[in-house]
Amino acid sequence: MAEKRDYYEVLGVDKNASADEIKKAYRKLAKKYHPDVNKAPDAEEKFKEVQEAYEVLSDDDKKAAYDRYGHAAFDQNAGGFGGAGGFGGFGGFGGGAGGFGFDDIFESFFGGGPRTNTRNTGPMKGEDRTMSVEIDFMDAIKGLQKDIKINYDEQCPHCHGSGANTPNDISTCTRCNGTGTVRTQQRTAFGTYVATSACPDCNGTGKKITVPCSHCHGNGYINKSSTITLNIPAGINEGNLIRVKGKGERGINGGENGDLFVGVHIRPHKYFIRQGDDIYMTIPVSAVDAALGCKIDVPTVYGDVSVDIPQGTQPGTTLRLRGKGVKNYRNNSRVGNQFVKVDVQIPKHLTGKEKDLYTQLRNLNNKGSIFDQFKKNFKF
Ligand SMILES: [Zn+2]
Ligand SMILES: [Zn+2]
Repeated sequence: MAEKRDYYEVLGVDKNASADEIKKAYRKLAKKYHPDVNKAPDAEEKFKEVQEAYEVLSDDDKKAAYDRYGHAAFDQNAGGFGGAGGFGGFGGFGGGAGGFGFDDIFESFFGGGPRTNTRNTGPMKGEDRTMSVEIDFMDAIKGLQKDIKINYDEQCPHCHGSGANTPNDISTCTRCNGTGTVRTQQRTAFGTYVATSACPDCNGTGKKITVPCSHCHGNGYINKSSTITLNIPAGINEGNLIRVKGKGERGINGGENGDLFVGVHIRPHKYFIRQGDDIYMTIPVSAVDAALGCKIDVPTVYGDVSVDIPQGTQPGTTLRLRGKGVKNYRNNSRVGNQFVKVDVQIPKHLTGKEKDLYTQLRNLNNKGSIFDQFKKNFKF
């Protein structure tokens, strides 16, 4: 699959573009690539790409997530929850909740006409929501089942979302005769134009409830607080999102709930520094141990590993511990490495005995010091 293009690039706007500029750019491109207008073979693809970019950049929450994490913000492979699936129905022509959809474009570009606007009558999926959790460094390496408290609306089990006490307590709206829409005529400079809008009596449902459901008081939904167990896979990285299906905002007109996206933040570790699937660490080694070589037990996220510091190891030398990094959370057969940087430490204080030994070492060298040799070869 081709690499996904940057949403700002898709819309041809600057990262700092205002909501208005984004909307303008979107309208222009949507008009250009609309499959009814543009017969080029890739027009529909382009149109969908533009739709998708706009869905994200026109929504403050999604835009913020995208600005921070890029396309990874909408990665759905992180959790064991929903699996693949569109993020709020990209590319659908029905017009998503919240944003403005195809109907809006159609009306503004093609002059309206007798087209019935059905936006408010059909079931629509609810908006997605985001929240974040913070976990420890080691929990991100090993994976974690974490209980989180959430609050969401669930369809009322008594009335199945209708809001009526029994199916007999629903009647057809007399104002719109059950269509959910009313028509009004508008005169404009371009002629008479028939606009349709949601029926104000029934809010576009086409139905009237005579006796409200006793369980949900006619709302059709019940707000629930519950604790769910979030399955945070081993190897999850800073900013990855875990999707919890159906725990977003409630759907409209019987539509399913949106999804909940939980952003994972990882507390930094005191010694381990993670970059992707690799781990970096600095260890102190004395000048004597670096000169003579030694065997040390280096901490890794899997426990201590015996490492040979070779004789004559130089300050800043980096050793690689293959396979001691993080297991990739998408592909567990891929594991990072741990890189160990050797920080050779020169003693700041010497005991009398140490001073004697260092002096003996110095006197042992009858060719003169390293600096003497450097000076001998130095030329202006
Ligand atoms: Zn009505
Ligand atoms: Zn109910």
